[in-house]
Order: sequence, then structure tokens, then C-alpha cells
Amino acid sequence: MSNFEQQELRIYNSLTKSKDIFTPINSDLVGMYVCGPTVYSNVHLGNCRTFLSFDLIFRYLKHLGYKVRYVRNITDAGHLENDADSGEDRIAKKARIEQIEPMEVVQMYTVDFHRIMEQFNALPPSIEPTATGHIVEQITLIEKILEEGFAYEINGSVYFDVHKFNEDHSYGKLSGRNLDEMIANTRELAAQSDKKNPQDFALWKKAEPEHIMRWPSPWSIGFPGWHLECSAMSTKYLGEQFDIHGGGMDLKFPHHECEIAQSEASNKQTPVNYWMHANMLTLNSKKMAKSTGNNILPNELFSGDNSVLSKPFSPMVTKFFMYQAHYRSILDFSNDALLASEKGFNRLMEAYRALNDIKSSGKGAFDVSAWKQDCYDAMNDDFNSPILIANLFEASKKIHSIANGKETISESDLDILKQSMHEFIFDVLGLMDDSSSSDGDTKLEDAVKLLIELRDKARANKDFETSDTIRDQLAAAGIQLKDGKDGTTFSLN
Ligand code: AMP
Ligand code: ZN
Repeated sequence: MSNFEQQELRIYNSLTKSKDIFTPINSDLVGMYVCGPTVYSNVHLGNCRTFLSFDLIFRYLKHLGYKVRYVRNITDAGHLENDADSGEDRIAKKARIEQIEPMEVVQMYTVDFHRIMEQFNALPPSIEPTATGHIVEQITLIEKILEEGFAYEINGSVYFDVHKFNEDHSYGKLSGRNLDEMIANTRELAAQSDKKNPQDFALWKKAEPEHIMRWPSPWSIGFPGWHLECSAMSTKYLGEQFDIHGGGMDLKFPHHECEIAQSEASNKQTPVNYWMHANMLTLNSKKMAKSTGNNILPNELFSGDNSVLSKPFSPMVTKFFMYQAHYRSILDFSNDALLASEKGFNRLMEAYRALNDIKSSGKGAFDVSAWKQDCYDAMNDDFNSPILIANLFEASKKIHSIANGKETISESDLDILKQSMHEFIFDVLGLMDDSSSSDGDTKLEDAVKLLIELRDKARANKDFETSDTIRDQLAAAGIQLKDGKDGTTFSLN
């Protein structure tokens, strides 16, 4: 029996505004799409928080036994300044300023993004499609929307007709807005715009002569609108209807609202069953953002090179700090909060190490099975990682009491405790024990001891070729073996 058959997962659905029981469309298969970064600069910690929130969700779904196809795109074209339908393409602008090719900008920041995600021990998505790699699919989608009568072409550009769509659909249902209010709050349409109504959004834009990121289409040489890529790529890889769509809270409107409109207009069905939105990381109570400069980069945090920091913080401490808040709560970044998280993280790692040394004896008063279910209940309640972490601290206290002889634990309970601590800390939260360098030394010591044992065996079998190879290779790596009457010891150069 799979884990998910025993657990009832509830997900807060931004569309229904309630915690809904999670039932995937195809029993044990889950399709999840998360809007990825626009790769025109280094990801800041705010971006990382959203991607780490979805890493936790991906990991827990996998832990429950689902086969998850996780699609996270790279936006490498079409995202204009101000999230609007006018202005320069963010990537082209950076390329112009740096005097390099747009694709060099894309490559540089995609590589940086991957490196940072790896440092955070985030799992790569199953598919990572790019907007520029799916121009054909985007053009096909526009043709479908035009055919259905929900878009219009004007001067080589194509716009989505929000007013027409809203006649028998609901534009604004995700973000809780309605079109009348939007109309009331919108200023006059800018004179140079081709749109019928200010609420309409671009599906295809004819490229101005200076717009260098351009592709041929039936309407003009131009480029796709920003919202289009996610509809085209999610449909291609996950189908017209899929389970989960995620992103940061700030993408709810207009990006995700427009995605729903595009998919409903072309496929006549609502594309996503569970819409999930991760909340913002703030600095000085203001949203971390690239554009305002109110942000911290992961590298600044890892090196301590930023005036708000008293010292460097490791990727795992940072991740632990983030998971101590629920993904739907706003989280404010501060040096003090990170110092507190560092203490907590080290305490948890100490307890985990102590767990390996404790011995079972007789019966114990700690109800490990109930505790384990509490951990699941926390995660089943819309991925409540702070409650999970509180449970892990609860177990840590017990571990120290048992280690100090104040409490006992039965053999079977100890087995469950070891396995569950391992699964929740490393598989679900995706943490790694980087809390002390002495741990690295211990691992090295264990590895060298193993090689010494193998060398002893080889010598006993008169296999001097192998024994000499082990000694020489270790020496080449800076590790000297010394044979004495009490056995072999080693030293580092
Ligand atoms: P972008 O590269 O601007 O498209 O953003 C990538 C992702 O980061 C999106 O899901 C955004 O919603 C998210 N994001 C941007 N700023 C923050 C922030 N301060 N806190 C959390 N997530 C953010
Ligand atoms: Zn998107």
C-alpha cells in the first residue's frame, strides 16, 4: 500500500480558497507546473523561497509515493518590463546594457540559477522547458484562441479579448477581481495602444525595429506575450487538465489569471485543479525584488558579504529558516532570525547524530507511532513545515533524554524513530548535515579506515599490487599511511 493511500493530503487551493482534499486526475501520477525564473539577472533569496517551497511540495508528493512530473519553465523571452504589454524585453535590455547576446544573458543566469538550486539541495524538475524553445506551440495556441473567437489581430499584433471572454467565463476568479471593478480602476487606454480595451493582453506582439528577439508568425515578425508560454508548455507536457499549478503570490494576477483565460478559451475546460501560491520573502518588511534593489543574493548570504549580515550562513541554515515559516505566510528576513535558525538547525543535526548512538532497552514511554503520524498530519495539512519541524524538535528532546539514560525506547520504536527522522529531515525537507566541519572529518576518517582494511586484506592475500596501489593513491591525495606494531595509522599532509 502506498503512503498516499494511508494519508489524507489537503492543499490550500487559491481557486476555491479552501483546503481541498488532494485527489490527482490519474491515481498515482501527479502533474505539477511551476512558473520558473525570468533569467535576466541572479535569482535573489525571495525567488529562492518560492522555488524551495515547491521543492518541499515536490519532495513530499514523491515521499507519499506519487510519480510526479514536475515542469518548471525558464522564461527566456517575452517578459517585458513592468509585467506589461509595452516596454523592453527584460533579457534584451540586459543584453543591450552588457553588450552581449540575449542568449548569453539567458545562459549565464540559467547556469547561476541551477548552481544556487543545487547548493540548496533542491531537486531538479522533471522537465525544464524554455519559452524560446516553444515558439511553434505558442503560435498554435494563438491560432486556436483566434479560431474560438477570443482574440483579435490588429497591425500585426494579437490580443486576447478579455471582455468577450468574460461574457460566458469568469475573468478574475483566481485573484478575486471582477471585470467591472477593473474597468472602473483603469485609466484611459494609452493613445498608442492597439488594444480594444485596456484589460486585453498581448498574445503576440509585432516587433519594433529595435526589438531583437523576434520570430516569424502568421501575423508579423514578433514575439509571444509573457502569459502564453506557461499555457503552451503546461498543456504540452501535462495535458489540457492537470493537477497542480504553482508560483509566487505576485503571479496570481495578471499572469495566472491570463493563463486560465488562454487555456479555457482554447480547450474549453479549466486547466488546473489546484492552484498554489507561495508567499513573499520580505526585507525590512518590503517585498524582496530585483527591480527595487531591496534584496539579498544567495551568494551574499553564503559568504556573509552584505552589511545586514553579521556572519555567513550556510544554504541549509537558510533553507531551515525558510521552512520554519509556512509557505503561505509572509516571511521577513533578518540576521537575528537566521542566527536563531542556525541554532535550531544545529540542535536538530546534533539530535540526529545522537540517534545513531542510542541503544534500545525494554519498553519506552514515547509513543513513536503517534509522533510519526503527527509529522504526517503536519505535512498533510497543506505542507505545514513549521509544525513538522516542531515535531522533529519534540523527538530531539526525547533522543537526548534516552541518550542520557532518563528514558528508554523499545527496539521497534527505535527503528521507526530512526527511519522517520531520516525521511522527514533528509527526504522531505531536503536538508543535509553541513552543520559542522568535524562531520566532514569523520566521513574522511571512515573512508580512509575502510581503505586501510582493504589494504590489510590484500596484504594478507599476498595481493601486493592492490595494497601498494591503495597506499600510493592515498599518498598522491595527500594522505600518508604509517604501518606500526598496533596496525596502520594515517596522517594528512
Ligand atoms: P521572476 O524571475 O521575477 O519571474 O520570479 C520568479 C519567481 O519568484 C516567481 O514565482 C515569483 O513570484 C517569485 N518571487 C519574486 N519575488 C519574490 C519574493 N520576494 N518572495 C518570494 N517569491 C518571490
Ligand atoms: Zn508562468
